[in-house]
Amino acid sequence: MDATIATIVSAQLVNQDVYHIRLRPHLPMAAVAGQYVEICLDNGWCVPYSMANDPQPGGELELYIQHFPEGRACDQVIRALTGRKEVPILVDGRVAYAPEWDKDPLILLSAGCGISQSRSIIEHRLAGTSAQPVYLCWGGRDDQELFELPQLQSWLNDRRFMADLTLESPLQGWGNARGYVVDVALQRLAWMTELERKRARVVLTGSPAMVNASIARLVQAGFCRDRLLADQDYYSPRTLTPLTVEPVTA
Ligand SMILES: Cc1cc2nc3c(=O)[nH]c(=O)nc-3n(C[C@H](O)[C@H](O)[C@H](O)COP(=O)(O)OP(=O)(O)OC[C@H]3O[C@@H](n4cnc5c(N)ncnc54)[C@H](O)[C@@H]3O)c2cc1C
Repeated sequence: MDATIATIVSAQLVNQDVYHIRLRPHLPMAAVAGQYVEICLDNGWCVPYSMANDPQPGGELELYIQHFPEGRACDQVIRALTGRKEVPILVDGRVAYAPEWDKDPLILLSAGCGISQSRSIIEHRLAGTSAQPVYLCWGGRDDQELFELPQLQSWLNDRRFMADLTLESPLQGWGNARGYVVDVALQRLAWMTELERKRARVVLTGSPAMVNASIARLVQAGFCRDRLLADQDYYSPRTLTPLTVEPVTA
């Protein structure tokens, strides 16, 4: 598989450790809202980051990347994206917006940087003609885990869209919801009938712990397991040659 070279248009911090990255691929890439971009490191590792925008032919790809300095892959990715002009990239991902999603309610439950995949899917959905409702619940432990999302206000002006922001441990003065994303979402979505719950497509983005716990709660609440979508159900790491360090073990 050949990676495509992308120019790094910008890499800007949006909170204490999350970078908003804009890439311009040199060749058009077949990318669909909801998929992820793999940043291909010199050692062959392909490190995945969800696309944050609705990709257009020949257009830019955006990412939000949280920088863990202790993360071996992540630190190399941030060094490459802030220190170079170009990086090789691939696009992949089975959680990808498909036209049949237009017929169903859409729910996005996101923790922290997980908003990236949700933003991509919401942008795509609201740009289309689906009249079905879209609900986003975005949360974090505290306000350090969220960041300004300029698109949110214009989405809220669309009558098909509603959203909650929630923190587990908010500081005094926080005016939005409090608690886990899935709890806030289930409370907000109490109006959904049994049939609507069965039809709804739910995209979950966050840590494996957040995703697994949320799936268990949603199934209990009558949502259909086949329609609960998370990258962790499909993702497997891949590497490109030359590989100069030990390969990923299963
Ligand atoms: C589908 C998907 C989407 C993601 N989207 C985002 C996002 O939008 N924003 C965000 O901040 N994070 C995202 N992540 C997490 C991100 O990919 C990294 O896991 C995170 O940056 C932490 O990196 P780390 O340094 O701890 O490395 P790890 O989490 O340990 O590894 C990250 C990746 O590096 C590669 N890698 C690591 N070690 C090896 C090795 N020994 N051999 C070969 N390959 C190796 C693999 O591809 C591995 O998946 C996503 C993860 C997945 C699976």
